[in-house]
Amino acid sequence: MDCPSLEGSDDSDWEECDDDESEGSVLCLFCMEELVSAEDVFQHCNTEHQFNVQKFVIKNNLDMYGYIKFINYIRSEKPPPTGISESPPGTEAPWDSDQYLQPVLQDDPLLFYDVEEWTNQAPVTMETEESDITLPSQQYRALLERLHQAEARSEVTEGQLHDALKDIDRLRQTAKTFILSDQSKDQHALQPSHGAVAQLREDEDAAYFSSYSHFSIHMDMLQDKVRTESYRDFITTNQHLFKDKVVLDVGCGTGILSMFAARAGASQVIAVDQSEIIYKAMDIVRENNLNHVIKLIKGRVEDIQLPVEKVDVIISEWMGYFLLFESMLDTVLYARDRWLAPGGSVYPDRCTISLIAIGDTKMHSNRVAFWDDVYGFKMTCMRSDVTKEGSVEEIDPETVMSEPSLIKMVDCCSVSVAELDFTADFSLKATRDGTCTGIGGYFDIVFEKDCTNKVYFSTAPNCMKTHWKQTLFLLEKPVDMKQGDLLSGKISVKKNKKDPRALVIRIEIANAGQVLDFQLQ
Ligand code: SAH
Repeated sequence: MDCPSLEGSDDSDWEECDDDESEGSVLCLFCMEELVSAEDVFQHCNTEHQFNVQKFVIKNNLDMYGYIKFINYIRSEKPPPTGISESPPGTEAPWDSDQYLQPVLQDDPLLFYDVEEWTNQAPVTMETEESDITLPSQQYRALLERLHQAEARSEVTEGQLHDALKDIDRLRQTAKTFILSDQSKDQHALQPSHGAVAQLREDEDAAYFSSYSHFSIHMDMLQDKVRTESYRDFITTNQHLFKDKVVLDVGCGTGILSMFAARAGASQVIAVDQSEIIYKAMDIVRENNLNHVIKLIKGRVEDIQLPVEKVDVIISEWMGYFLLFESMLDTVLYARDRWLAPGGSVYPDRCTISLIAIGDTKMHSNRVAFWDDVYGFKMTCMRSDVTKEGSVEEIDPETVMSEPSLIKMVDCCSVSVAELDFTADFSLKATRDGTCTGIGGYFDIVFEKDCTNKVYFSTAPNCMKTHWKQTLFLLEKPVDMKQGDLLSGKISVKKNKKDPRALVIRIEIANAGQVLDFQLQ
């Protein structure tokens, strides 16, 4: 059949071509008989030669190219219909060569037959345990589609179930907390002081520990000379406290305190940290050949087991902003109550928090009065946000305008977690005339129990800077003071119930009629 080229073609040419096709010129695959159409050839092959082309194509999963090669293969090699075997999967079929893409007959109508229609509609056989089931392919596809949808739905449901189980777990924890706290009212003296931090679930506290996994925070701490050298001096100048002792380092970070203790003669140092930084500590300890003394444990102090019953000394650098931020002291007290041998010590042992009056009208107006006129607009509702947050910053010692007032003393060897939420009176005596615009807070640390060399450091504004800086609570309404005047009131410091690592602080200034609530978070 000679089909016209497309160039200059018109519909009549195509009709002519179709007409040619209907004139009985499709040669059989296995004999010389010419039939009217491709379908007739397939019919003829089936009845005369017992070869079902459609079935063969479907069974062998032939696509358009495979089919064309197959037709040309039969036409050129002329195998008997009985000699055409199916090709097992993975083997190369005899027609599977590109040479059979070349038409044997010019314009062979069989080559234009759309066999993909067969394969699309072909029934699919599924194997089941009892017998094979054959489905039309459309039904099979619909079934597959429903299966995928069912899978997607079950994935969503699984997620919801997981969330629901988590909620139940949370509820269970809350109920437990209620019951325990109720019991503790009756048996206060018998209960070890675990506190809210110990009850945090691992996932609730994950962000806290991941903040300690990056090297930079450890670099800041190690480079804080006041901090690190105080620990070093305490340990190296009081070696009798460590010689042949079992030491627990609560929150070892890079392992610096453990290594000081090992160098001071500790027989064993157990170093614990939940943060990933402990993997670095393992390398560091090995690098310094101290792995025979220091044993590192990855985990939350509240969850782990120690390889010993009791320890003689606990060292830890747990202090946060305003001393108690982070509530890591709870963890140290937990370790103390669980593992410290009778007569053992926790270092540092004495810590205090103090307040001072700050007079810095320029800074106050930059932060508070600023909102009264912003490019000619009033934004006064923003003022209260500024005065609700305690800010961690370096307070200029020149702005300090009172003597300090000590509001809390903590003895780490005896304090309980409950005592870390406290209320105290304060009284700030003005050292000069001026306007008090805020109250500053800082802490002091002392290593003294059984020490031959006491070591002390302070984070007050007039001392050497530390990474803890100071904490500033701005007054809503500044208070004018004369030298010798007292600014007095009450401060309460408590853990934030929703986030026990954060603090809520209330300052009541009795003689200025102000009640200020701050968050430290
Ligand atoms: N001791 C080190 C690091 C101090 S930072 C040094 O002085 O440089 C406090 C460390 O305590 C962090 O690495 C933190 O991950 C760890 N930590 C805090 N609470 C913990 C807990 N409950 N269990 C285990 N590690 C804790």
